[in-house]
Formats: sequence, structure tokens, C-alpha cells
Amino acid sequence: MNATTLFLDPGSESRLVCPACALAYPAGAPVSECESCGALLEVLHPRPADGAAALRSPAPAAALDASGAAGASGVWRYHQLVMPAATDVVSWPEGRTPFVRSEAVRQWTGVADLRIKHEGMNPTGSFKDRGMTAAVTHAVHTGARAIACASTGNTAASLAAYAAIAGLPALVLVPEGKVATGKLAQATAYGATVLLVDGDFDSCLELVRAASRELGVYLANSVNPWRIEGQKTIAWELLGQTGWDSPPDWIALPAGALGNTGALGKALREAHALGALPRVPRILSVQAAGAAPFAQGFEHGFAERVRVHAETVASAIRIGDPASWERGVRAIHETNGAVAAVSDDEILDAKAVIDAAGIGCEPASAASVAGVRALRSRGVIAADATVACILTGHLLKDPDTTIAYHGGSGARANPPVRISADLREIRRLVPSA
Ligand SMILES: *Cc1c(COP(=O)(O)O)cnc(C)c1O
Ligand SMILES: [Zn+2]
Repeated sequence: MNATTLFLDPGSESRLVCPACALAYPAGAPVSECESCGALLEVLHPRPADGAAALRSPAPAAALDASGAAGASGVWRYHQLVMPAATDVVSWPEGRTPFVRSEAVRQWTGVADLRIKHEGMNPTGSFKDRGMTAAVTHAVHTGARAIACASTGNTAASLAAYAAIAGLPALVLVPEGKVATGKLAQATAYGATVLLVDGDFDSCLELVRAASRELGVYLANSVNPWRIEGQKTIAWELLGQTGWDSPPDWIALPAGALGNTGALGKALREAHALGALPRVPRILSVQAAGAAPFAQGFEHGFAERVRVHAETVASAIRIGDPASWERGVRAIHETNGAVAAVSDDEILDAKAVIDAAGIGCEPASAASVAGVRALRSRGVIAADATVACILTGHLLKDPDTTIAYHGGSGARANPPVRISADLREIRRLVPSA
């Protein structure tokens, strides 16, 4: 990995830089794409004075907001490498999610050592909160009057909550009929204006990017470089939990727009450049087979950008034209990573195993575990590998898919049992002593 241009001189101010043409923008500018070449911008920070310690033993960030919430945040503890100039941050707080083992899930994947980072345990039930705390804080700093996103559901839920905390109006654009019940309920209840668009996610994103350009509403999608800054903390927190000196061989995550893949790549790049990380874990991005442009690109060495019409039960990753394509490619290249595609049946099987282990997740999240099993069986992941799987969203996000699965004929279906109100009906179900 090339460490030369990852940090600015100590004492300087963070800035936005175009990775394609090197044009720079002040950190306070509400821009996501380069005005000259259109590439997505990225944030560069000054090198922290305490070097690797900024990640390995971050100082508490108690004074960043009035309520004190940020002091408990798993994002703002890394503020030096997220948004060093932040004050009055909008924090729930988020992050500090569990990192657990399950023998049942490990066995199903076939790897020697599997741990699960449950990002569904964030305040609105998905990892999106880590990026949203940074983006909404930035929006407030830039004087935004309104903030908007296109969403398959979780970004909408998260934005709606953080905008409500900040007292900013939120507009969320979602594909009508394609958003899981829990997510739609959240966005509505948190008070966002929910716009049901007659189109898919990709057309919602196109529309909201135009609204941002033409109408000046602050754009909260993961094209926004501050979303990436917040989401990097998944990786740093995970490495703190494994121990910085013993990182996993692989980190697996589901991939849609590729913002999170890009964030993970940037987190590992920066950690390595600071000397915090002895070796860089390989990223495994997993897509649903019906929405797998990145996996198709990977098969051809990323020779060209691929777009597809997306269809999958995993609605959070039902994305045909990933906006953070270049960020994703860089993350896979730099970590010697891999991209896999798994079928909806594999996703639902993985979800059933994760759910029945008492952990639980939404369908898209289970793609990470299904991808590990698939690459283990193909020999890409070695039998003795250590693997960390990121579960991106909570079980309760998509109750309809879960209930439909358990009412069906799948091998792991656990249909409810209808009984009359009679004790004998229960007696025959109780294991005898
Ligand atoms: C947003 C989301 C993803 C995909 O993340 P990208 O950054 O779009 O690749 C995966 N799983 C869940 C639950 C999500 O909400
Ligand atoms: Zn540019």
C-alpha cells in the first residue's frame, strides 16, 4: 500500500480531494463529486500527532456535543480520523457494536475461526448510523436547510432519525413497493417526508443527486465522503476487538452501492499507513446473484464498469449501478480482496442459520456469511482462515421476508404451530424428562 498521500501535514485542516484529478476542496464544502471530472471526492486528514495511538487507544471524545452522547459513540472516539474539526456533533450515540462467536454459524461456513460483528445493533438497526452521524453533523456545519437521500430503506431510516435529532427537514426517496416494512415504518415515524418513487433505487439516486445539484439540498447518500469517514470506524472497532496485533485474514461484508466496501478499504489503508496494523485483512464483498455488477466486474479484472437491472430478495443490496464503484475497486485491489455472488436461496439459508443461532439479521446481511461458505467451499478461503463477518442490519428490519420463509418449504423453515386452547396440546410438545 502506498502511504505517501494518505495524510496531510500535522496541524493543517482536513480537505476534500478528487482521487482522479487531485483537485482539492475545503472540508466545509457541501460537495460529493469533483466539479471538474465528476469523480467521487474523498476526505484527507492531517496525520494525527499521536500516530497509531489515534486508532489503537483513542482518547475519549466527551466534549464534542452538548448532550454528552458523543462520549459514548463508537464513531466519535476516532474523531481525529473522521472529522477532527467537529463540534456539536449529532450523535445518538452509535457504534460500539458486539463482536460475537457462534459455533453453529462457524460450522455452517466451514472456516476454522469465524466472528460476527453485528452492525444491526446500531440505534436505528443498521451500520448506516455510523456514516449518518458524520454526514448530518457536516450538514449542520454547512448550514443546510434540508437533507435528502435515495434509499433501499436503511439509509432512509437512519437519515430520518439523525435529521430529527438535528431538527432538520429530511426528504427520503425510496422505490415504491420495494422497501422492507420495518425500514419504511422507521422513516415515517421519525418524521421524514417519504417520497415513494415509481422506479428502482438507481433511478431514486439519480433523482436525488439532481435535486442536490439543482436545489441545494444536502445529499446524505454514501457518495457523500463524510458517510465514508463515519463508516470506517466499523473496521477500526473490529480490529480493536480482535486485537490490533492479530487482525483476521478476511473481513466479509454484503455489498450494494459499495460505499461500505470503500469505507472498509479506506479504514484499512489509513490504519496500515499509521503503522497500527501489522498486516492488512483481505476484504470479501458479497453481492446477491441478481444484483451482482461488482462480482461480474471482479471476474473480468474490473476491466470495465458493469451495470445491471437488479432483482433479489435482499432489498438492501438490490442495486444495479453501484455509485461507489471506483472506491470499491480500490478496496479490493489494495487488500488483495475478492468479490462473490450468492443466490437468494443461499442468502435465506444463511439467514436462517444466523437467526436460529439467536443472533439474527436482515436478508442482505446474511450474504456475508453465505459468501464465506461459498468461497470456503471453492478453496478461496483456506480451511484454517480467521474470518470476521459484518452483519449490516437487524432481524426486525424485514419481518415479511422472515415470516414468508418460515411459512414455506425451506429446509430450515420453522412454521408456527396452531393449537386449541388445551394443555394436552402443549404437553405433547414438551420434551419428556
Ligand atoms: C446499505 C446496506 C448494505 C450495502 O452497503 P453499500 O454501502 O450500499 O454497499 C448492506 N446491507 C444493509 C443491511 C444495508 O443497509
Ligand atoms: Zn476531479
